[in-house]
Formats: sequence, C-alpha cells, structure tokens
Amino acid sequence: MTDVFVRSPGASAPGLRLAVTRPVVREETAMHDHRKLGRELGLFDTDPLIGAGLPYWLPDGATVRHTLEEYIRAVERRAGYRHVYSPVLGKRELYEISGHWAHYSDDMFPAMDLGSEQVVLRPSLCPHHAVIYRSRSHSYRELPLRMAELGGMYRSELSGVLGGLTRVRGIQLNDAHIFCTLDQVAEEAQAALELIRQAYEALGITPSRYRLSLPGPGGKYVAAPEKWQRSTALLTDVLDRSGLPYEAAEGEAAFYGPKIDVQVTDGAGRESTLSTVQVDFHQPEQFDLHYIGANGSKHRPVMIHRSIIGSVERAVAHLIEQHGGAFPAWLAPTQLVILPITDAELPNAEALARQCTDLGLRAEIAGPERGSLGARIREARLVPYQAVIGAKEAADDHVAMRLRDGRRLDPQPVSNVLSDIAALIAAHSTNLWNDAAS
Ligand SMILES: [Zn+2]
Repeated sequence: MTDVFVRSPGASAPGLRLAVTRPVVREETAMHDHRKLGRELGLFDTDPLIGAGLPYWLPDGATVRHTLEEYIRAVERRAGYRHVYSPVLGKRELYEISGHWAHYSDDMFPAMDLGSEQVVLRPSLCPHHAVIYRSRSHSYRELPLRMAELGGMYRSELSGVLGGLTRVRGIQLNDAHIFCTLDQVAEEAQAALELIRQAYEALGITPSRYRLSLPGPGGKYVAAPEKWQRSTALLTDVLDRSGLPYEAAEGEAAFYGPKIDVQVTDGAGRESTLSTVQVDFHQPEQFDLHYIGANGSKHRPVMIHRSIIGSVERAVAHLIEQHGGAFPAWLAPTQLVILPITDAELPNAEALARQCTDLGLRAEIAGPERGSLGARIREARLVPYQAVIGAKEAADDHVAMRLRDGRRLDPQPVSNVLSDIAALIAAHSTNLWNDAAS
C-alpha cells in the first residue's frame, strides 16, 4: 500500500494558486498504471461525451505537457532545427501520393466529402513537410535542412483498445524531417540518436532496448528492394558505430522504410516505441523533391524522419508511470510548496511565492489552515521542494528546505535557495540538489 495525493481546487489567496491535497490509498498492483495515477493527480481525464481515446488535459497535466513541449522545441532549436506549423487536414490526393492511402488506410479516419473534393484527418505529418520543402527551391548549401513540428495527427483506433494516454485517436507528435544528401545521412541519424539520449537523461527515462525495425511479409510495404537495402545498410551502420546494443525485428518497419526504434517498458512489462529514426528514399521520390547541387543540376535529397520523444501523450504516460507522479523538478506541476508554520509567517510565505513567480518557478502556499506541518509535508510528498518558514526563519529572511527524497537542509537565505533551485531547473537536472554547493 502506498499513499498518493489528489489535488483539487482550493481556497485562493490574492495572487496565489492554492491547492488542497488529500491522501488516498491505492493498491500495489495499480502502482504503475498511468490511467489511475493521471486521474488521481489531476493530470488528465476523459469524458464519454467527448469520446473514447480523446483525453483532455487538466491544469497540472497541461503544465507538464507545455513544459515538455517547450523543452523539446528548445533542444531542437539548439540542434539547428527550424519549426513550422502545418494543418491537421489534407486532401485525399496528398495521402495517395505519399502512399498512406494505399498502405495505411486501415489506421486512417474516413475521408470527409467537401463539395467535389475529399479531405482527410492526417495520419502523419510527413506529407505536409515534404510539400513545405518542395514549396521553395533549395541549394545544396542549405542541407541538411531540419524541419520540426509538434503537431496533431489522428488514428482511427477501435474503441475497444483505447485507454489513458497510450491508445488515443488524437496524437500530438514531436516530429521532424531532415532533408539531406546521401553523404549526410549517417551523421544526421547519429545526431538524432544523441538528442534522444540527452532528452532521456533529462526526463529520467531508461530505454529497454534499441530495435532495428525491418519489413516483414505482407503487402503493407512499398515495393522497392534496392531502396530498402540501402536504407537498412545505413541504419545498421549508424547503430554499429554508436556502440548501442540492438536487435533486428521483422515486420516493424514503416511502410516506406526501415527505422531505429527506441523501446521503453511500462510498469506492467509491456514494451512500446517512444522514439524513432528513419531513413526514407521513398517520399522524396513520390513528391519529386530536389535540391540544386554544386554543379547546378537537380539532385534528389534523402528524408530522415525522427522523433525525440514520440507522441506527447505516450511520453507523458511513460513519465507518470516511471516516476509514480514524482516528476523531475523542472517538469513538476508544482515545484515548490511553501509551508508557513503559523499564520504569523504568511506574509513571508506570500513574498517567497512572488519571488518564485518572478523567477519562473511554480510555487504554492500550504498554510496552517490545511493541518499540522507534518500533515502538510506528507500531502506535498510529490512536490520536489518544501520550504518551511517558522518564526526564526521569518525574522532572518531564511527558509528551511526539505527535499522530496527526505533530505533536510539547514536554514539558508531565501535568495540562495531560490537561485540554486532555479539553476537546477534551468539545467533540466534530475538531481534535486547540487550537493557540492550545499
Ligand atoms: Zn515523417
């Protein structure tokens, strides 16, 4: 048996967001179920009227999602990606050209008739990005051209298999396409694997294995044996040179090419793909993409599809299960809970909350009206930092810090504590405290 806490909107003090927490008891068997935890922690929920597989995000869940999305965008910007937005609908012809209509239609929503044309909720972002690339002429000097988007895509899953954030009909995908020369493929694929490694470190995720996903029998793959061989050889080389252990798996490729899949395992031991790197000779051909080479003539680019965290839904589901709701501090919905021992310290608590807000930290006050100090500390056990203010601390403008892992620090000046926490959060560290500095 383990305690977890439910957040619900509580009384508000001026300018502060307060939350009431109450402990609930959950069974050991449900410990790693993100659906149960997500509801208990007030992260997301579903409603039959909105529909199965269409979860909505509550304020704390939306904070986690927004923070994760901004982290990914910043990582991509530093790695030379440029972001675009593209519509979630496209004409049926777009998917006929890309091959989705012929090879992937079982997973697509039915086309909608619109006058004389048909539009489709998109099953992937790739065709839009190919068309965006094609809309401008490109010199070899612009390559590798890295185009990224956190965008919506849709999958017509049957309602029987839907649940939580892992089987959904609307997906927010962290996607990117790198248009490059054949010579640049290995380095770009390697760099994408490195971004995945960095992100997993910041998120505290351990991959269960790397998989080289190859085509299997059946007609769901585009027929181009020579292209499959070339792209498989490239990805094999990237994996071999990375030194990462991997296994080849038949029947797991995308319909247009092989891929490297980064697999994670949930609390129930089920494995799923979070991140991918794919090499694609097919789409550039289908969309007649080209760049102008040094000799002034047209050449065909290669398209690398890559996702650092996969879908936002699946990534957050995995994070909830992996951390049991105790997210890394930079991702936590509430990063610091302020605990005045008596009402006399409330002005100091409110001043501290304002300083946190100014620094971009997410803080809440849990005052004496919410019970004894011990009870309030237990209620806030998923919050990374607990700042206790008693009479002595208030007089000295100090704060006595407790960390989520049970550590207690000596009272320190408020400004020191806040700058240390802000630095750890800015670094996307999974460490709660920099021990060398404390
Ligand atoms: Zn793609």
